[in-house]
Amino acid sequence: MSAKSGELKRGSGGLVSALLGVQLDQPFFWFGFETDENIAKSLLQKSADVEKNLEIRPVVLEKSLYESYYDRFSNDVLWPLFHYEGNHVFFRRQDWESYTEANRRMAEEILKIAEANDTVWIHDFHFLLLGQMLKEANPDLKIGFFLHTPFPSSEIFRQLPVREEVLRAMLRFDLIGFHEHSYLRHFTVCLKTQLGIESTFFKAETGDHVVHLGVYPISIDIQGFKKKSSAPKIAQLSEKFRQTIRSPFLVLGIDRLDYSKGLELKLRGFRRLLQKFPDLRGQVNLLQVAVPTRVKVPSYIRLKKDIDRLVGTINGEFGKPGYTPVQYIFNSVSEAELLALYKRSDCALITSKRDGMNLVAMEYTVAQDPDNPGVIVLSEFAGAASLLGQAIFINPWDEDSIADALYQAYTMPSDEKRERLEGLQDMLSKYSATEWAKSFLRDLDSSRIRPPKRPLARLCAATKDTYGRIFEKVRQAEKCHLILDYDGTLCPLQKRPELAVLSETQKARLQKLGDSFSIHIVSGRSREFLDAQFPESPFHLVAEHGAFRRLPGSEWKSRISSDIQSWFNEIEKIMQDYSERVPLSFVEKKSASLVWHFRQSPPDFAAFQARKLDDELQIGFSNLPVSVTIGSKIVEARAIECNKGSFLRWLLESEPAESSFVCLGDDHTDEDMFRALDTRGISIKVGHGETAAHCRIPTQEEVLPFLEELVALRGKGFEPVALPTSKAPAERP
Ligand code: UDP
Repeated sequence: MSAKSGELKRGSGGLVSALLGVQLDQPFFWFGFETDENIAKSLLQKSADVEKNLEIRPVVLEKSLYESYYDRFSNDVLWPLFHYEGNHVFFRRQDWESYTEANRRMAEEILKIAEANDTVWIHDFHFLLLGQMLKEANPDLKIGFFLHTPFPSSEIFRQLPVREEVLRAMLRFDLIGFHEHSYLRHFTVCLKTQLGIESTFFKAETGDHVVHLGVYPISIDIQGFKKKSSAPKIAQLSEKFRQTIRSPFLVLGIDRLDYSKGLELKLRGFRRLLQKFPDLRGQVNLLQVAVPTRVKVPSYIRLKKDIDRLVGTINGEFGKPGYTPVQYIFNSVSEAELLALYKRSDCALITSKRDGMNLVAMEYTVAQDPDNPGVIVLSEFAGAASLLGQAIFINPWDEDSIADALYQAYTMPSDEKRERLEGLQDMLSKYSATEWAKSFLRDLDSSRIRPPKRPLARLCAATKDTYGRIFEKVRQAEKCHLILDYDGTLCPLQKRPELAVLSETQKARLQKLGDSFSIHIVSGRSREFLDAQFPESPFHLVAEHGAFRRLPGSEWKSRISSDIQSWFNEIEKIMQDYSERVPLSFVEKKSASLVWHFRQSPPDFAAFQARKLDDELQIGFSNLPVSVTIGSKIVEARAIECNKGSFLRWLLESEPAESSFVCLGDDHTDEDMFRALDTRGISIKVGHGETAAHCRIPTQEEVLPFLEELVALRGKGFEPVALPTSKAPAERP
């Protein structure tokens, strides 16, 4: 909202758009600063007519204080810092004092009407101290805070001279919400590095207070936006633009002219497109709407000059009569024009260097015509990148990445465009501004205490030995145990886990091996699956990576003693969130573990998200008895006892010293067994890749034949060279 001469007018920021999409059923007061007393009075009178259930409470701040608080500390320190623009930060102690004073004034006004147990929802970096001030006066207020920008890495945040004051004040909120997991993670790392406060992904405790933490990706009012953009007058205007903006392929940019939006990178990328693909000259145009912002600030004046110059350079270099490559508007556009441009264009290009979310990307998606949609080219540094998996992603710092993405958009077949749009719209339909607000307020309402922390288990380390000596030991041992992983070792990997079953012949061959070996099948699979695969078998079955075991003819026994409840539901929530975001991914729930599968998802996007998920869980749950691993097209969180190495150590201890062991496995969970086995037996990696195993069998198909050969050799005595290994066995480190 902005006020000019006492008129209420919708502003052009993302926060305003999102909040107007919220239709809560309770009345609420919206507080904001105003520097003109007369305007403030008039706003107060008019506010009730403007939005249902919403009363606007302008808080008057004298102009000099406002400029120091808002223009200087908020926008010259916090904004650049939070957007990784360290060299734009200009810190003055008196602006920090103004910031503190402005927060105090706001607190006073809120406290005039807020009563115990009322909910106060504070938005954005302009009010980082407000929670502390309100709590001191009224500890029974429920205070939530949502950060609409990124929260930077601790390496950037530590640049702030008042970093400790800011973090300590933030710890007084009851709930802090971020757009993205990485922002939350940065915050928790800052708590650790700056204040020495340990936290999880859900809360940070400071003696007398707990601040809960969460991720709430903001959205737009999808239904409202869809309705507005499909109005006949928008179609007419879009048609008019089709006549007046003549371009076979129109790329659209809608950004405030802010350095975080990467406009200069966008123009360089567009220039690269025309250099690299000369056939596209005359065929592709960029229409850039640059909405003026902070026009009197020197760094913004410089930015505008740079952009003006670049536009001129590109048009001079590639323009010709009838073709102006870049059309540039330094102005805001009306809502109708914006919607019509979304519809008229063939591609949206977003090159933010850092962006809390980027609502333009969402609006563009919703406004597209499903029969003839445009394509979104989106910076991987925008928060929206974690939601809009079917966009084409770019690293905006790489001109070629932009040029290639635009070329891909230009040449994209219509079917693919429609398919991608469907995926994007599906994804967005799960997030609405109303849901965003409701879920935040629901969590604020029900902040709860969690169980205490426990240390993580440590893995044992491997020691030296040679392949030959160990193999000899296996040969001579009276009792030999054969420890076999299931998927990828006994059974070939399949696209869908339920398809990975052994044939009757394979089962019979395995059964026969049981005459010579004591067989243990150690799998990540559930008890039910192993029961179905090996009913009444003579094998020792071990399910969920060692969490449960069953001896032939007896019941399953649990090996779990840690507190699963301390992490299980929270990790499930995070994984569900990822499975909604990443097409065709899903969460598999077991008794003591959770697995996020992405085998059939778009590979690059899913792999990127998997690394993020792994990272987030590793750090966020490091104090709880859970271990997180990233495997072949999965991310898995398991109780610490769900570790094949821990199972094997137990087995080694329970068997006489003279027993010997042969252990085969193909993936990272089997590495724990290889390390645990050490010199008590021989470990064999199936397939390629780094391994701690003694030797290798190149493919899964060779496993059963090898084991059968081993049986024969065990009777006769054998040479290690009999192994079908692709490389000569190496000395272990
Ligand atoms: N917008 C507008 N008028 C314009 C151009 C853009 O109202 O002339 C709106 C646009 O519809 C979007 C918002 O401004 O809702 C920009 O939000 P975004 O998250 O993309 O960026 P922000 O400006 O908040 O950093």
